[in-house]
Amino acid sequence: MTRTPSKPTLNWPNSLWQATADAGLNFGRLEESIETDLLIVGAGYTGLSTALHAIEHTDDVVIIDQAQPGWGCSGRNGGQVHPQWKSELQALKGMYPGDQFNAFIQTLGDAVDLVFDLINRYQVDCQAERNGSIIAGRGNTAIRYITQWSQFWAGKGKSVHLLDREKTSEVIGTSQYDLSMCDDRGGSLQPLAYSRGLARACSEQGVSIFGDTCAKNISQTATGWRVITDAGDIRCKRLVLATNGYTDGLWPGLARTIIPVASMLSATHPLPGHVASTILPGRQVAAEYAGVPAYYRIDEKNRLVFGWRGTLFGKIGGLKTAHLRAKALRLFPQISGTQWEYDWAGYVGVTPHQRPMLLKLSDNVYAGLGYNGRGVPMATMMGKQLALALNNEPTAIAIDAPRTVPLHSFYPVGVYSRIVSGHISDQFR
Ligand SMILES: Cc1cc2nc3c(=O)[nH]c(=O)nc-3n(C[C@H](O)[C@H](O)[C@H](O)COP(=O)(O)OP(=O)(O)OC[C@H]3O[C@@H](n4cnc5c(N)ncnc54)[C@H](O)[C@@H]3O)c2cc1C
Repeated sequence: MTRTPSKPTLNWPNSLWQATADAGLNFGRLEESIETDLLIVGAGYTGLSTALHAIEHTDDVVIIDQAQPGWGCSGRNGGQVHPQWKSELQALKGMYPGDQFNAFIQTLGDAVDLVFDLINRYQVDCQAERNGSIIAGRGNTAIRYITQWSQFWAGKGKSVHLLDREKTSEVIGTSQYDLSMCDDRGGSLQPLAYSRGLARACSEQGVSIFGDTCAKNISQTATGWRVITDAGDIRCKRLVLATNGYTDGLWPGLARTIIPVASMLSATHPLPGHVASTILPGRQVAAEYAGVPAYYRIDEKNRLVFGWRGTLFGKIGGLKTAHLRAKALRLFPQISGTQWEYDWAGYVGVTPHQRPMLLKLSDNVYAGLGYNGRGVPMATMMGKQLALALNNEPTAIAIDAPRTVPLHSFYPVGVYSRIVSGHISDQFR
């Protein structure tokens, strides 16, 4: 197979992760016709994990990405590894009736374990730490969410602690929250380094990766599928679309099954030691349960890495992060005077029903997407599930048919009303 080093067509964001991760392997563009058993479109966690699990059963796996591994959300996220899903306990029971609920609960913990197992197995150097993950909030809704979930996990024997206002203030370093829960199973990593480490592991296991290779068209053939790329084409028996928040019109209707919503992140210059020691001194990661939740952590160089919403319509827009910095300062006045060094953003794949989706699109064609901001563990787990589905083995995540989000073309209006109402409810908590 020919890999032609090519001029990248897509720029990398100016992220902390891009500035600090090792360069990683560069995968050249496909510029010929090839055949493979399994083709995966998208080299984020979903695609790379699918390949790593599928290569155990076939010698012939190819991944293509329009950029390089980790260019999408997988190299841009907050690097927070939470076992906690965002839905309220009762709502989740409604979404996963009967035995499905226990299966999903099991999957949440297994997904976090899988991330750290893969890091260990393939010796991925990505600053992985398992110091715990915190959900914090204020007001009655957050108190209910946090209390119910922490009691639930404790009842399951998991190491999850409910922290009152005083303890929360001590553990996080802000007096803004009424309550929090800390889950000792959670942790953090450098997300782009994790992506690049998975890509290296794939390569070492025999997976062929082509970068700067955009899939343009898919058609069915007598023996499988043909995918035309910008400079070549691939015939395959089995196909996985792992494009999540960056899904385009490649497979008719797939982009209409999710809502891409921008999330932005900023990172400060390294904080002085006496300030850094007041914020998350146990170096857990933290996320809010709120109408418009923020999430944050301290990195290995003592930078505050702070994430919040994009524009009110859910877009990246001009990458204006003043609102986010102001929110960080409200929570942590001790960072006053600190300079911010990096701003970046990406598109989270959101599903209206808040379920991650393993979709069967056609014979031997699957997609995995829609992790609702919990994709570090869940996209990694989805890869394992996709590999099982390709092998006709039972999956922990149920296989669904694609369903279009009603009135999808108007989603920016829906995102706007969701964000504005979230802000209003947060004001009155
Ligand atoms: C700012 C931000 C912060 C986040 N924070 C967290 C967090 O702290 N914790 C957490 O658990 N989750 C977080 N998430 C979510 C998490 O990053 C994602 O759920 C996860 O990375 C999804 O992985 P993926 O492989 O499915 O998609 P991506 O990593 O987005 O990969 C999709 C790939 O498909 C490629 N692609 C698309 N179309 C084509 C095509 N036609 N041809 C070829 N290639 C194509 C893209 O180039 C891209 O590389 C965050 C997301 C964002 C944006």
